[in-house]
Amino acid sequence: MLAIFMIVAAAGVLFVVLTLLMKKTDSQDGIAPVEEKRYGCAICQEEFVESDLISRTVGEAGYRRYFCDRCVIELYEESRLLHDPRSKE
Ligand SMILES: [Zn+2]
Repeated sequence: MLAIFMIVAAAGVLFVVLTLLMKKTDSQDGIAPVEEKRYGCAICQEEFVESDLISRTVGEAGYRRYFCDRCVIELYEESRLLHDPRSKE
C-alpha cells in the first residue's frame, strides 16, 4: 500500500516539476508565438508592432529599417515645406 502511495506521489512531483520546467522554457522564449514582433522606429526609437510600421531596406548592407507613422508624417510635412515656394518668402 505504501509502495503504491510512493509511486503516485513521485509521479505527482514529477508532473509538477515538468509543468514548472515547461512554463520556464516558455517564458525564456520571451514573446509568445501569437504576439506580433516589435521594432523600434529608426527615427524616434519608440517601439511599435511590425504591422504599425513602414519598413525599407537601407544601404548596401541591406539593413531593414522601420519608421512609425508620426515620423513619416513629420518628414512629409518637412518635405512639403521645403518644396513650397511660399515658405521661402
Ligand atoms: Zn518614429
